[in-house]
Amino acid sequence: MDQQELYESHLMKILLFGKNGQVGWELQRSLAPLGEIIAPGKDSQELCGDFTDPDRIAATVRTVSPDIIVNAAAHTAVDKCETDAGPAHLINATTPGILAQEAKKSGAWLIHYSTDYVFDGSGKKPWTETDATSPLNIYGKTKAKGEEAIQASGCLHLIFRTSWVFGAYGNNFARNILRLAKVRDQLTVINDQTGAPTNADLLADITAHAIRTAIHHPQVSGLYHATASGETTWYDYARLVLDTARQAGIVLSVAPANVTPIPGSAFPTLAKRPMNSRMDTIKLCHTFGLTLPAWQAGVSRMLTEILHAHDRT
Ligand code: NDP
Repeated sequence: MDQQELYESHLMKILLFGKNGQVGWELQRSLAPLGEIIAPGKDSQELCGDFTDPDRIAATVRTVSPDIIVNAAAHTAVDKCETDAGPAHLINATTPGILAQEAKKSGAWLIHYSTDYVFDGSGKKPWTETDATSPLNIYGKTKAKGEEAIQASGCLHLIFRTSWVFGAYGNNFARNILRLAKVRDQLTVINDQTGAPTNADLLADITAHAIRTAIHHPQVSGLYHATASGETTWYDYARLVLDTARQAGIVLSVAPANVTPIPGSAFPTLAKRPMNSRMDTIKLCHTFGLTLPAWQAGVSRMLTEILHAHDRT
């Protein structure tokens, strides 16, 4: 084998779905050094990237014949899922199950993301991978079904359950708080739901790192909790965002004293949210030799990107 053939034999073919989401966007960057990325969008014509059409998704997998399928597509609008249960089930459960069946047939790896919302949020202990799921809402139920379909298929897989995802690219809690703080003089923020805000770039980097291990060690196939380390409430998260913005010289309408903590019960939503989203990440760290940075590091980095973006233009 000459040098060129040796190089090409190490390149993997990666089929990525959900490329324009928070995690998908970062995966386009983190997976690039691993090989060729083929990433059909929701509206692509030649290859299908639309998860409401599982048959064409299956055909796409067969056409591309990837070594790795990475699924970052999902119906993530949690309240909308309550009234949109059919599409939510199709996108979050049925089609991931079809991907798994195709992966099983071809021997490809399937990488998939799931959520803390598969748990009911009871207690205060961090959830482990062996805890029973008991979702409170349709989104969580469909994501749990997606996990089960993948596990039942017997394909080689990595499922990363994560929480409170944010990225510099995309809509998220920090951006919403900043937007509201510029136009309102009072803000109320929930302080009885606890979890770890997790940056999309961290998840994408974990994914690339784990794939490098997995392709040589198929025994690592399985389910992992993958979040940034530490914990907070939405209220303390909001305080950090607003303090950082003020320090960066951003003018806000709301004074620090007018950001008020409230219980989730005072802010009714269509979908019920879990109060305890703490996730035990020991299995991930031990299996892949990882140290997970504190959630504040990711938030601070994302804020630097979005608050100072205008300085660079
Ligand atoms: P986003 O909502 O940012 O992105 C979701 C992606 O799915 C988008 O690219 C979207 O495409 C795509 N999508 C939506 N509908 C379809 C469809 N019918 N067919 C194909 N693609 C579709 O999600 P995140 O990046 O935040 O989430 C990534 C993963 O992490 C998901 O599995 C999610 O369940 C999980 N997760 C997310 C959390 C969060 O707080 N966001 C928390 C815990 C887990 P388009 O942009 O074109 O609509």
